Amino acid sequence: MSNNNKEIKLVRTACPAHCGIDCCGILAHVKDGKIIKLEPAEFPFEKDKRICLRGLSTLDITYHPNRIKYPMKRIGKRGEGKFERISWDEAFSLIAENFKEIAKKYGWKSIGWVLGGPGAGTTKFGAYLRLASLTQSTRVSAWGYGDAGLPCGSRVIFGSHLPYIYLFGKFWQRKWPDLLVVWGTNPGESAPLQSMRKILDSKEEGTRVVVIDPRFTVTASKADRYLPVRSGTDSALALGLMHIIFQNDLHDKEFLREHTNGSYLVRLDNGKFLRGEDIGERKAKAYIIWNEKSAQAKKVRRSNKDAALTGTYTIEGIKCKPAFQLLKEEAENYPPEKTSKITGISEELIRELANKIAIEESVIFLTYMGFTRTYHGDISLRGLATVASVTGNVSTSFSSGYLPAVLNWDPFLNTDPETPSFHRLGILNLYNAVIKGNPYKIKSVFFAFINFLNQCVDSGKIIREFFPKLDFIVQTELFMTPTAKYADLILPVCSFLEFSDFLPHPYPYVQLQQKVIDPLYESKSDVDIATGIAQKLGYGDYFEGGEEG
Ligand code: SF4
Repeated sequence: MSNNNKEIKLVRTACPAHCGIDCCGILAHVKDGKIIKLEPAEFPFEKDKRICLRGLSTLDITYHPNRIKYPMKRIGKRGEGKFERISWDEAFSLIAENFKEIAKKYGWKSIGWVLGGPGAGTTKFGAYLRLASLTQSTRVSAWGYGDAGLPCGSRVIFGSHLPYIYLFGKFWQRKWPDLLVVWGTNPGESAPLQSMRKILDSKEEGTRVVVIDPRFTVTASKADRYLPVRSGTDSALALGLMHIIFQNDLHDKEFLREHTNGSYLVRLDNGKFLRGEDIGERKAKAYIIWNEKSAQAKKVRRSNKDAALTGTYTIEGIKCKPAFQLLKEEAENYPPEKTSKITGISEELIRELANKIAIEESVIFLTYMGFTRTYHGDISLRGLATVASVTGNVSTSFSSGYLPAVLNWDPFLNTDPETPSFHRLGILNLYNAVIKGNPYKIKSVFFAFINFLNQCVDSGKIIREFFPKLDFIVQTELFMTPTAKYADLILPVCSFLEFSDFLPHPYPYVQLQQKVIDPLYESKSDVDIATGIAQKLGYGDYFEGGEEG
């Protein structure tokens, strides 16, 4: 694209940076081959036009004089920061030689690809995963390196590590609720920025907005009600809200029976769900409910409309209660006075919110990274999700909520469907794999899009116990980060203005992150880095064309 001023070329690209899901469109102004300005780009829907300081600062990052400019091999001790310049060919050979050597001793799965995030992008992740798949080495998932609370809590409640579809998918589709409870997120100042635009739009259309946050944030300043919760007491607040909802008999019984495990019987002797095998049912693993109509224990069916939600039942000598009964008893311990003392929120505000959540026809709970980056944040997320569930404010089908545009990666990653793909390891298991060889040995790591030492737990342990156990460490980076200092090999990687990719965000778009300028210095895109390694390992045919291919 170019405008009337022939000297300035305009290139529409998009930001895949940290927040991952916003992917703001960016219009780059290029003069004499140099980017001179970035600004928000147009979207078909004008309210999706936005940008943040981080996205804008990519201009400074790209042209920063301290960028790593060429591949470097360590010549001092690890962490000392002494490196010497080498060529890309030498760098790729070094990786291939080390990987082959390590694989010979410990097997290919001892090589871990530690790919960070969040951050969108398909080919940059895909290229390394394809290589991991071809070599049957290990993909180390970044979920949990700073984001454990949200996925862990969500998995317990929804069976999926992403709660978004269930909690606020409709909101992202611009379907405004009567009441919006913003809890554990501050989109006015932090990702996802797109939520703030939607909060303001929904407010204009009559949505009542409540913000629960320890700090009076920018988001809170736009709310109809602000509840200043004391840090770390969110789950007490959730139980306090449920106390009032249950006491006033305002919970959604039909939803609880049909869409939750509230009616499943729990054994009082061991706290586990009662299963078919416990009472001589043919279906050994079936969950059991108490059918109020027939006054009998029955296995769970697709519809459980007559299931008891409360009471105590003895079946084959085993005393049981429905899960909802146990939740109710727990919530009884959190009357408004006590909840107020714990959370610092007035009784009046707690009562008002509980009643509104229960009475309003449509309520949406908006959350994001606030819980995930706090100690025991999984419990807070579970509290929020349980309040949403007992009041029937959860989407029960994928089609009713936000679905990210998903590109089918399978043919890309699984080059040969007949052979197995890469091994998988969670990042928190990586520590044991490296330090203790459990569940298996990891002897080399390839870090991309992650500053592991800064972002992962226990940096002392990483320096003292983790790095020394690794035979070979590679880091792709733009700058000399603390982790890069411990690498044996540093590879200069492009900023997002220097390569192209597909970004499956924001909903409902797929955007082209278009290369604006050629890579500066000797930096390469991740696809070209993966291609160079693949060629040395004998898999070049699978990466034909590299970045341009
Ligand atoms: S909000 Fe996210 S996608 Fe948008 S410019 Fe900032 S970092 Fe980039």
